[in-house]
Amino acid sequence: RDRLARIRGAGAELNAFVTVTDEQALAAARAADQRRQAGDAGPLTGVPMAHKDIFCTRGVRTSCGSRMLDNFEAPYDAHVVERFNDAGLVCLGKTNMDEFAMGSSNETSFYGPVKNPWDTAAVPGGSSGGSAAAVAAGLVPAATGTDTGGSIRQPAALCGITGLKPTYGRVSRYGMIAFASSLDQGGPMARTAEDCALLLEAMAGFDTRDSTSVESPVPRYSEALNGDLTGLKVGLPKEYFGDGLDGDVARVIDEAIAEYRKLGVEFREISLANTELAVPAYYVIAPAECSSNLSRFDGVRFGYRCEAPQDLEDLYKRSRGEGFGPEVKRRIMVGTYALSAGYFDAYYLKAQKMRRLIKDDFMRAFDEVDLILGPTSPTVAFNIGERADDPVKMYLSDIYTIAVNLAGLPGISVPAGFSHGRPVGLQLIGNYFDEGRLLNAAHRYQ
Ligand code: GLN
Repeated sequence: RDRLARIRGAGAELNAFVTVTDEQALAAARAADQRRQAGDAGPLTGVPMAHKDIFCTRGVRTSCGSRMLDNFEAPYDAHVVERFNDAGLVCLGKTNMDEFAMGSSNETSFYGPVKNPWDTAAVPGGSSGGSAAAVAAGLVPAATGTDTGGSIRQPAALCGITGLKPTYGRVSRYGMIAFASSLDQGGPMARTAEDCALLLEAMAGFDTRDSTSVESPVPRYSEALNGDLTGLKVGLPKEYFGDGLDGDVARVIDEAIAEYRKLGVEFREISLANTELAVPAYYVIAPAECSSNLSRFDGVRFGYRCEAPQDLEDLYKRSRGEGFGPEVKRRIMVGTYALSAGYFDAYYLKAQKMRRLIKDDFMRAFDEVDLILGPTSPTVAFNIGERADDPVKMYLSDIYTIAVNLAGLPGISVPAGFSHGRPVGLQLIGNYFDEGRLLNAAHRYQ
């Protein structure tokens, strides 16, 4: 009850929540108490949390930050929601996000921007900005996020918390509203790597309802957090420390590297030569997939429908025209163009080839090193409004995170310090299914 009051009270100023689910939360808390009394509680039973509003929650509005789904109550629970319910976590509500997860600042949300708890003039990052702000402000100790091009790691960095994007396929996408299906991956956001480890254990695992879900056992991440880092080989990609990286952010990352050296980590410079291709490839592939995924929002079956349509064509046009915001429309147009006959080879196919080159860079790097380290974001949180009118500048916020999605690798953002009072995040990137090593390295640093 205290937490719900905080979310509605002092926390309301942040605009981190779209929906607060008091009744369900109180019922879940009572059920958790009973489990505890019956001796049937796990480590997460009774722990309050919030779901990004992209995860379908049965009987609760699931808006995806869009007017299109403002009236949508999901008829079923996402896999991750089921898993968290089974573990006894208590969901307090649904967090604000960029519309359909398209954005890096939470400013594209139909419900308005979220404020960064460290400085309310600043954005929290995006698209999982509501989750990051809610955890950073102490409204909940844990939240879910999704990461298509950095949307867990970048807001985690900008809000000074820990956020893990698992290997593609580690966590089922069933019931997670699709943006770009070959890139989307759900993951945990919390204060520490230890909390993320517990949460990942609960959410990961095979699910027959997602054809890209991977059938491999889920390690006990939380039990392997105290491994020695002596002799761990970590690569520093020279492309992640060049032009465009804020000097003060670079200083904080250098200090973190020095700390890691004291823990016995061996660093070596590596090259991810095709890094500059990541943002351009992503902004063809992600819009292409989104233009296809978002065709289901037609005003007929669910979601927003325009007033008094003249005929079917008018119904489609006005429902989509009124239901989607400007960034979503921009992506649908770019994606439709890239997939159209005559342009497919020049854009989509080319982008897929670039994607392969980016993956090959990582594979070569992992022949030499165990993990890769760099900044999560080139700058600290920028001010609300500062990049809103400049999509390219906004897109460059994700320059260090996007390649990881294109390759399908796991990555974690860990709080590393501050610059001008705003948090700086350190990113660690691992090989496929090496979440355990990532979490261990993050935990030892914390
Ligand atoms: N900021 C990137 C975009 O706008 C990534 C978003 C995400 O990871 N969902 O597409």
